[in-house]
Amino acid sequence: MEEKYDLIIVGGGPGGYSAAIYAARYNLKTLVIVAERGGLVTKTHLIENYPGVVSLTGPELMEKIENHVNEYDVDIVDDFVDRIKKEKDIFTLTTLNSKKIIYLKQLCLLLVQLGGNLVLRENLS
Ligand SMILES: Cc1cc2nc3c(=O)[nH]c(=O)nc-3n(C[C@H](O)[C@H](O)[C@H](O)COP(=O)(O)OP(=O)(O)OC[C@H]3O[C@@H](n4cnc5c(N)ncnc54)[C@H](O)[C@@H]3O)c2cc1C
Repeated sequence: MEEKYDLIIVGGGPGGYSAAIYAARYNLKTLVIVAERGGLVTKTHLIENYPGVVSLTGPELMEKIENHVNEYDVDIVDDFVDRIKKEKDIFTLTTLNSKKIIYLKQLCLLLVQLGGNLVLRENLS
């Protein structure tokens, strides 16, 4: 399958989902490719004093954030980005499970992985 997006976000933790919300509000055709939905926050059982929320679990917080993303026209694919290649002005991403090839229409690729979990089998070339 080949599709074209304005923005592809690799990672679906707080960083990736926040970026997706803002991109969609700017009418960018946006795709999130995520190996593990929610990212590292889902590993913690208690988050306290997040502004506006007294206490909730990590999975609960990420469910709320994902629901927020789903209010917009954002595609989310559960997969692992295996390779990213750049030829001229086009990035091509290949995912591990479905071998899906996805193109960027513009020079706009965001890798979100503050938790240090982004692993690619090949370096970006
Ligand atoms: C036990 C624990 C408790 C924590 N508690 C708190 C807390 O109370 N308050 C707080 O503010 N912070 C807390 N943190 C820190 C918080 O989890 C991180 O700061 C935050 O998750 C970083 O968000 P991120 O989106 O940048 O990265 P991450 O959450 O690491 O998300 C990375 C995303 O990228 C995806 N990914 C990586 N490589 C690929 C690939 N090749 N293809 C596709 N997807 C990929 C991952 O599956 C994941 O979805 C805690 C962390 C841990 C581990």
